[in-house]
Amino acid sequence: MGWSRIRKVAVIGAGTMGRGIAQVVAAAGHEAVLYDVDAGQLERALAGIAATLDKGVRLGKVAEAARDAALARLAGTGTLREAVKGAELVIEAVPEVMALKKEVLAEVEAVAEPRTYLATNTSSLSVSEMAAGLRRPGFVVGLHFFNPVHIMALVEVVEGGETNLRTINAAQWFVKGLDKESILVHDSPGFATSRLGIVLGLEAIRMVEAGVASADDIDKAMVLGYRHPIGPLRLTDLVGLDVRLDIARHLHSELGSEAFRPPALLERMVAEGRLGKKSGRGFYEWEDES
Ligand code: NAD
Repeated sequence: MGWSRIRKVAVIGAGTMGRGIAQVVAAAGHEAVLYDVDAGQLERALAGIAATLDKGVRLGKVAEAARDAALARLAGTGTLREAVKGAELVIEAVPEVMALKKEVLAEVEAVAEPRTYLATNTSSLSVSEMAAGLRRPGFVVGLHFFNPVHIMALVEVVEGGETNLRTINAAQWFVKGLDKESILVHDSPGFATSRLGIVLGLEAIRMVEAGVASADDIDKAMVLGYRHPIGPLRLTDLVGLDVRLDIARHLHSELGSEAFRPPALLERMVAEGRLGKKSGRGFYEWEDES
């Protein structure tokens, strides 16, 4: 049986997501220990979290005492065993490569206590496949956070084929304790968010391709007509056209539906280096902010 109270959380991988997750975990009152194979990344992550909390204080969104308490509950280590020791929950946020995630989870399982929940922040890989081969697949669950973690309110709780009910319940309670909302999704390609969001984005691109309306007007249709906070093409520019193309290809091959076939215009724009905000040009022109 798993733990009923989660006190210490280990976060494996201190990149974009790992540092964001460690921050909200510490802010919510847990002891958070961040681990990375790259010492430089770990150092940058800890400094980045402090800077983000400082900014929150400057903007009046975080109390000084809350920042200090969060930082006091946060630690970094270059030793996996030390990170995992005594943790009721381990969240992995290493790169999106199945073999690497399997390897990391196996290493974690070998040093963790038997009742420890193992969560993956994967945005597209199968949780069931990741858990297969572990000794305790019932303790493995998806916790799909969104970037930036301290701002985005949603976490997808992903139930693998062997995830047990207690693990799901613990994951849902944990998310609630972070002051976020969870949705429960069965392990399937694209979970709920990517599967639906990508269809809208790809269809918007097909409409630009067919000359139905301008990019700006298609976005306005969704913002003003459907009350979306941002149009699908502007969102595609923010996420990166290359990232969206990869997801579309993955979902097209996994699900087979024509709705996920990458439009020729998207393929062409990526080949030309028009990747959206990060390259200065996508469906919109972006000012250089550096
Ligand atoms: P990232 O490249 O920014 O960070 C990955 C970190 O993992 C790096 O610091 C790297 O040094 C570290 N790492 C590599 N191998 C390791 C190992 N064996 N043990 C410990 N650390 C190791 O990646 P990211 O953008 O933070 O993504 C991490 C995960 O989160 C991926 O599964 C990704 O799909 C998912 N995700 C990303 C986003 C996003 O917007 N970036 C959103 C949701 C989910």
